Amino acid sequence: MDDSGAARPLRVAVVGAGPAGIYTADHLTSGRVVPEGTSPGGVSVDLIERLPVPFGLLRYGVAPDHVSIKSTGRALGEVLARPGVRLFGNVELGGAVTEAELRERYDVVVYALGATEDRHLNIPGEQLPGSISATSFVSWYNGHPDSDVPDLDGVTAVAVVGVGNVAVDVARILLRNPAELEPTDMPTDVIEALARSEVTDVHLLGRRGAVHAKWTTKELRELGDLDGVAVLVDDGQLPDEAPEGAGRETRRNLDVLRGWAARPPAVASRRLHLHFSARPDGILGTDHVEGLLLERTTEDGRGTGESWTLPVQAVLRSVGYRATVPDGVPFDDERHVIPTDAHRVVRDGVASTGEYAVGWIKRGPTGVIGTNRSDAKETVLALAGDVPGILAAHPGDPGGIDDLVADRDIRYVDVDGWRAVVAAESRRGEPHGRGTVKISDWETLLAAANVAPAGA
Ligand SMILES: Cc1cc2nc3c(=O)[nH]c(=O)nc-3n(C[C@H](O)[C@H](O)[C@H](O)COP(=O)(O)OP(=O)(O)OC[C@H]3O[C@@H](n4cnc5c(N)ncnc54)[C@H](O)[C@@H]3O)c2cc1C
Repeated sequence: MDDSGAARPLRVAVVGAGPAGIYTADHLTSGRVVPEGTSPGGVSVDLIERLPVPFGLLRYGVAPDHVSIKSTGRALGEVLARPGVRLFGNVELGGAVTEAELRERYDVVVYALGATEDRHLNIPGEQLPGSISATSFVSWYNGHPDSDVPDLDGVTAVAVVGVGNVAVDVARILLRNPAELEPTDMPTDVIEALARSEVTDVHLLGRRGAVHAKWTTKELRELGDLDGVAVLVDDGQLPDEAPEGAGRETRRNLDVLRGWAARPPAVASRRLHLHFSARPDGILGTDHVEGLLLERTTEDGRGTGESWTLPVQAVLRSVGYRATVPDGVPFDDERHVIPTDAHRVVRDGVASTGEYAVGWIKRGPTGVIGTNRSDAKETVLALAGDVPGILAAHPGDPGGIDDLVADRDIRYVDVDGWRAVVAAESRRGEPHGRGTVKISDWETLLAAANVAPAGA
């Protein structure tokens, strides 16, 4: 109820329209959870997203050749079209609006900012041209409008540092026959660059033994099925048996690796080499990467003093994603997450009702798309329990950001604008005999969404 006694919606701002943010909007508006003090349909969710398009790392992280997981976007898109949900794309928290402004204008703010920066190796030579973060490489092949084009000229051998699924994605995209990428939504200039690439050898490197690798068996297996690619792994690097207490996934991964090690040597034009217990100690070169200095480690990652150099012209660093937050949003500098207690944001040591976090910005960069769905549900249940107190403390409608949008002439992408982007992308492949092809620059995205750039 507002001051006049008329029913008013519970106003929720969800910042970040990635999977975690959209699942939060879903749980808030599906009618399955009706916070006390609101009526079904009485929750209004504004999704505030810095990019002109939604879906976060589903669009800009998940590899384009993982078509079935990409199709999760259809279900997320249905949430955007739901009554009670509004999209404010091209609106950045910390840019067009501040956290204080959001907290004034909403009953509840949920941070779903994800984690988009890369972690560093902190070794000499990391800044050399040819040393590229996987974050940047993944953004490029996914057509992110902020991405840089990696320089693969003259590169025949690449080291990919990391043994998680992102490293596997990067290795696969580098080695896959580019013709197989045509049916995906990858930008055409990316496929052309990959077709021109002279990369023949990709080295995947883990600094501890094979049992510590974090990839999942499904993703690992795919590497063995790549057309025209030989997978080389030295049997001597693998334990005879999985250690006691090893989980099912680790055992299955070891079976896959042993199967590859036992294969008779194959002649192939492209090769994937797997190295374990190999710790990068320095990236070598003067003007460009010329090699990677490695130290042999024990099973659990301790140095042995034995070193060698891998002759590569590019190093792709895939050692994890890292979050940052705009000014005013609490942040744990050690864990790189928004600090929370039972999903509530901890501000000055106190868990606040009215501010929540969800997804990678709360849990850190782990978990698949589905993990964010259950996380969003738990977050919404915590939030719903706080609603009576929130409404009692602030009975008047706080109004949402409509006033700021009007006063500042904020050009945002709403759900119709986003649908227009989808339609434009679905037409882009036609001249190349392809289907949907992503638009990968800001100007064209905003034009497709019928949004004039600010100042125009
Ligand atoms: C390379 C890679 C491959 C992956 N592959 C798979 C896979 O195959 N299968 C799978 O299930 N999962 C995969 N994942 C994991 C999956 O992408 C994540 O679980 C999921 O995207 C995390 O969701 P999120 O909403 O927390 O964060 P994100 O997806 O990062 O979404 C956060 C959103 O917040 C927005 N944002 C950030 N800052 C601001 C701001 N200041 N103002 C407004 N908006 C902001 C961002 O633009 C973004 O849209 C992959 C992840 C990566 C990195």
